[in-house]
Amino acid sequence: MAESCLFCRIVGGEIPARIAFQDEAVVAFHDLNPQAPTHVLVVPRQHIPSADAIGPEHGPLLAAMLGAAQRVARQVGAHERGYRLVFNHGPAAGQSVDHVHLHVLAGRKLDWPPG
Ligand code: 5GP
Ligand code: ZN
Repeated sequence: MAESCLFCRIVGGEIPARIAFQDEAVVAFHDLNPQAPTHVLVVPRQHIPSADAIGPEHGPLLAAMLGAAQRVARQVGAHERGYRLVFNHGPAAGQSVDHVHLHVLAGRKLDWPPG
């Protein structure tokens, strides 16, 4: 755990969040500023600063993150109509929290290309 990291503090229960799903590897919680009717963030319990720091050793963790995203999509009934999964890395992509997180967006038509 990184003491000053917002998402480590959410994982640790120190900062409240609306939890959508959790297991031993990941926590999925609703975004405070949702960009779609469903907007959930899937984060590993382990502190990893961004998607750019993910390596081959994180294979099982990535599978757990994707599995959690799929479960969230099924919970809200978005698995058939569609949903979007996003990792933002670095300032040009708008990453604002330095703890890797997978955005799960669903519940509306999602334009492509994204802004
Ligand atoms: P990024 O811009 O880094 O890809 O995504 C960070 C996300 O975290 C944003 O969508 C932002 O709304 C969300 N966020 C920031 N602070 C909090 C918080 O304290 N609680 C929750 N639930 N979401 C947060
Ligand atoms: Zn962290």
